[in-house]
Amino acid sequence: MQGDWPDGAKFCVSLTYDIEQCTNFPYWTCVWDHEKGAIDAESRRHVSDLAACAQAAGVLFQWFALGQSFTPADVSYLQDLSLAGHPIGNHTYRHVNVKAREWEQVQITYNLDPSLRDGSATPLDAIRNEIQQTSAVMEQRLGVRPAGFRTPGGFTNGLDDAPQIQELLQKEGFAYVSSHYNLPISLPRHQGYPIATETRPSREQLQDAMRASIRSLQPYRYSNGLLEIPMMGISDIWAFRVLDLDRAEWLSLMELGVDIAAEEGLLFSILMHPSVLASRDPHAATARRVVERTLRKGGAVVTNDQIAAHLAG
Ligand SMILES: [Zn+2]
Repeated sequence: MQGDWPDGAKFCVSLTYDIEQCTNFPYWTCVWDHEKGAIDAESRRHVSDLAACAQAAGVLFQWFALGQSFTPADVSYLQDLSLAGHPIGNHTYRHVNVKAREWEQVQITYNLDPSLRDGSATPLDAIRNEIQQTSAVMEQRLGVRPAGFRTPGGFTNGLDDAPQIQELLQKEGFAYVSSHYNLPISLPRHQGYPIATETRPSREQLQDAMRASIRSLQPYRYSNGLLEIPMMGISDIWAFRVLDLDRAEWLSLMELGVDIAAEEGLLFSILMHPSVLASRDPHAATARRVVERTLRKGGAVVTNDQIAAHLAG
């Protein structure tokens, strides 16, 4: 599939945003794991600022949202996105682990409130319900069904070890899944999670990891035909939570990602979160600089939905 991009562009960049609350943002002590869909006012406003950026440049961004975020009476910030033409994909209802085999692995909310298991014989049933409920509430409140699905959390092996989820997504009619993420860099682990407190990788190591990630994570299909559009390079979570980068360091890695895609005719699909960037990049420099650089170098800013439609022929 390499080198085959919409509108004959020589390379592509997709800016993707998962609309959810992220633990450790805006303050390190913030914990949102049990209420990922409770989008705060500042993050909602940042979504609108990002949409304004896209409109000014005449491009569209790719978004993913939780079903839970559609429960408030006022979801105009999401409806405005959709009306402006931005595709919003399905990110499950409560940000569940789609590879869970045991109830304890599904989501902390399922442990806090076991009644959520009612009507589901197995974790897989609950995961199916989560996905179906999200598509239904999105269709009801936006008037369009989501075409794409993004797994909560990325997996370094995509859905290779989860054929049941490949099947489920195919049956639900999704045009693609976005589940594969890998930044090949080794870090010491802190409480089971990689975190660079004292030993940060060098700039050269990060640049090498960006290049390796983008090269190895181009779109591909699983054996059942389901399209995978991976998340590439460094995500905002890795930059600001795991590696504690400064904004300038993050921006220079984003520009490098565009340059790699331009040189090698690749897709650079970036994973970001409005609730992270609202505090770390409040004036949306990332979106503006990535879009400007991509267009200046002759590339196209596209959505994952557009890539999937193009690759489907
Ligand atoms: Zn997420």
